[in-house]
Amino acid sequence: MFIDSHCHLDRLKLEEFDNNLDNVVNAALENNVNTLLCVSVTLEEFPAMAEKTAKYDNVWLTCGAHPLNQDDEINPEQLQELATNPRVVAIGETGLDYFYAPETKQVQLDSFRKHVRVANQLNKPLIIHTRDAQEDTLAILREEHAENVGGILHCFTESWEMAEQAIAMGFYISFSGIVTFKNASALREVAKKVPADRFLIETDAPYLAPVPHRGKQNQPAYVVEVAKHLASIRGTSVAEIAKQSTDNFHRLFAQTKA
Ligand SMILES: [Zn+2]
Ligand SMILES: [Zn+2]
Repeated sequence: MFIDSHCHLDRLKLEEFDNNLDNVVNAALENNVNTLLCVSVTLEEFPAMAEKTAKYDNVWLTCGAHPLNQDDEINPEQLQELATNPRVVAIGETGLDYFYAPETKQVQLDSFRKHVRVANQLNKPLIIHTRDAQEDTLAILREEHAENVGGILHCFTESWEMAEQAIAMGFYISFSGIVTFKNASALREVAKKVPADRFLIETDAPYLAPVPHRGKQNQPAYVVEVAKHLASIRGTSVAEIAKQSTDNFHRLFAQTKA
């Protein structure tokens, strides 16, 4: 079985699924993708996301505000309150993205720090989005003692040095469809080195569909393609990748284990 450790079910265009989210979840199940982590990107939209996914026992949630959705300052009390939903297993996605929005750096830093504090208060792991902000990301994780809760560096595209430092703080490294892209050879080198007990797989659906589905809308069922590519990169079987990544997910989020 496979786990999609990062998807945005509330952002899928459901037209191609007969306007029914059941069809997305069922397509995943048919491909042996049995557990999904549905990731929040704004606090305002969290209640609707929770409602849309409430009937699926195999869908877990996170709560947080994406670094690129930071028009207003985050309210940590609101985050803390929303994150007490029993299906919320992690805080995020949060982090820093200086690639797309260097101009909002200050707001991102402030929001990221507040997310780490709430994660520590609620004792829940973090889902981290980090792009072109290695030093600041690691500095905040250290300053705010993120090692107490750990978490995931999701859709990882940064250096091995960064991965290594995050792993030392108890974090897991999650690979998306980007590892299947032609120009991602540096990332494949990183994917080769991450210890077997520290990697996860994800789609980040509806974004970043893996080869051979590039150009289409991504969906959790396609996480199998990420697993196949990782297996060939790491010189192991798809079954082994499935088992390792599933074990890793359940170690990080004990309550998701059936
Ligand atoms: Zn992200
Ligand atoms: Zn995401």
